[in-house]
This record gives sequence, C-alpha cells and structure tokens, in this order.
Amino acid sequence: MKTPRTYLAAAGTLVLAACFAVAQQPQNPEIRIEPVRGHLYLINGAGGNILASVGPDGVLLVDSGLSQNADRVLAAINKLNVEIANRGGLPTTTVVPPKPIRYIVNTHLHADHTGGNEKIAKAGKTITGGNVTGEFGDAAEGATIISQQAVLDRMSQIKPALPFAALPEDTYHDDKRLSHFFNGEAVILQHMPAAHTDGDTFVYFRGSDVLATGDIFVTTSYPFIDLANGGSVQGELNALNHILDLAVAEFRTEGGTLIVPGHGRICDIADVAYYRDMVTIVRDRVQDMIKRDMTLEQVKAAKPTADWDPRYGSPDRFVEGVYRSLTNKK
Ligand SMILES: [Zn+2]
Repeated sequence: MKTPRTYLAAAGTLVLAACFAVAQQPQNPEIRIEPVRGHLYLINGAGGNILASVGPDGVLLVDSGLSQNADRVLAAINKLNVEIANRGGLPTTTVVPPKPIRYIVNTHLHADHTGGNEKIAKAGKTITGGNVTGEFGDAAEGATIISQQAVLDRMSQIKPALPFAALPEDTYHDDKRLSHFFNGEAVILQHMPAAHTDGDTFVYFRGSDVLATGDIFVTTSYPFIDLANGGSVQGELNALNHILDLAVAEFRTEGGTLIVPGHGRICDIADVAYYRDMVTIVRDRVQDMIKRDMTLEQVKAAKPTADWDPRYGSPDRFVEGVYRSLTNKK
C-alpha cells in the first residue's frame, strides 16, 4: 500500500518527500493526456495530477508533478500545445509555434505536486506589460509559480534548500484571481485553511466549470491529513463541503461541474459527496471512541473505516490523522 511520505520533521530537519511514495511510482511512467472540457486537459502519470489550460493565451498548469518526470511532462505539453496551435485547417507545411507556459499554480507543497516547478517554469514565459516590459532583463523569462503563502513559507524551510527557481514567487492569502481571462475564462484561486495541509488551494475555471482540488480530494486512497504541515480533519471536511457548495450537477447528481482530484480520475459532485460522507462518518466514529477514552491503538483495532477499506486500502495513516487531529496530538 501507499505509505506516507511528506515533508516530515525528523530530528529537527525537514526532508523532501511526496504525499505518495515516490519509490512506488513507476520508473518511467507513461504520461497520458485526457481532455477535460474546453481548453482543459488532465496530464496523468507525473506524480500528482496536473491540470493544463492550453490555448491562445498560452499554458497554465495546476501543479507540476514529480521532479524526475518533468522532462516527459514538458514533452507531452509541447506536443499537445503544437497540436492545438495547429488546429483549424492550416496547410500542413505551415507549423504555428505553440504558446509558452505562463503560469504554474501549486495546490500545496508536496513534492509530487511541486517537483517539476523549476524545470517546467524555466521552459515558460511570464506575461509582462506596462512598466515591467523592458525594465527587468529577466522579467519575461520563465513561467510564474503561484501558491498560497504557507506553501512558500514551508518550502523555503526545507533542508537541503530547494533551488530558488523551484519556489513560488507570487503568493496570496485568502483568495486570488488572475487579473484577466486566461484562454477565455476566469481562473479563481481559493485558500482552504488547515485541510490536507495549511496551504491548500482550489483552482476554479469558471467558464469551463472545472475545479482542481489538489489532495483535499483524491480517488485513490483515504485523505491524508498532514498534521506536520498544518492539516486537520475538520479543515478537510470544510473543504470537501465547499466543493459541494460550488459544484452543480447537470441531472440529479451526475455530470455538471467537473472535479479534478489530486490523484485519480475526473469526478463529478456525486463522487465528492460520497467521499465527504465517508470522512464525516469516520470522524464521528473516531470522535465517539475518543470520548470513551480509547487509545489510538484501540481505535485502529476497532476498524472505524471497515466499510470502505476494500475501496481505499490501508486506513492506518488516515485514522491516525483523524485521531491526532481531534485530540490535538501531533
Ligand atoms: Zn499532497
């Protein structure tokens, strides 16, 4: 099963790792691209999911995958970018150059979502204008990496230090939106406090009605409450409920708003409701056991997640996260 690997505090040192075991990722995973809706594409196989907006304004990426996959991710983006730039019946001898990668939004700090930052950002180009153009030699070099402030704070404390170019350079606190439409739509960033970590960002593509959630929502495992990086079970539930507030079904509970999880397949509101209900029930069961003075080992032995273990696998990390979150024991 997947084991927790995060930026763990060990012997006073922060070490670089991912929320899903790097050792269990295939050596050369196939990078697959799946259309989501409109200009949006899911890039799968890079570590965490990458959501890409590709169109006339260039490329915006939500997350950047593991560092060791960055070259293959870039190759896949370039291929897609050329294909899209050359749609529209031009003569086959005319190749329209693709538009550059302009933004990378990091949903949180884990290495399977930020590891490609340096290499992919270097390949891109930031939109500049007004006073900036021409004043700074490197102002137009490289894509801009955007995140919530806590992501930068925590990434800049990691030892050994990450390269400066791998760190977010444009941070926000509560909410942020790109100042202009990007590929024909508003892109809205919202901070979800103390959920998977304390720096989680939702990215909402308002025209396409697609929401990228980072690891607050995944289809491949129980949620990981990363207490060492400021996560909490109540914040996780608040964030899942916020997805359900934003999302609208097309018919009954199917279709409509599409939700791209941090790991796994494209979902709709019904998938998130199922996951939210599971987390709520497990929280209530563990809370009840805590009221009865049960220890963590007793809670684990009582199997509060038994109904879902065939679906989500080993519950130990999740149950421990819920227990420590509710008892404030880190
Ligand atoms: Zn994560």
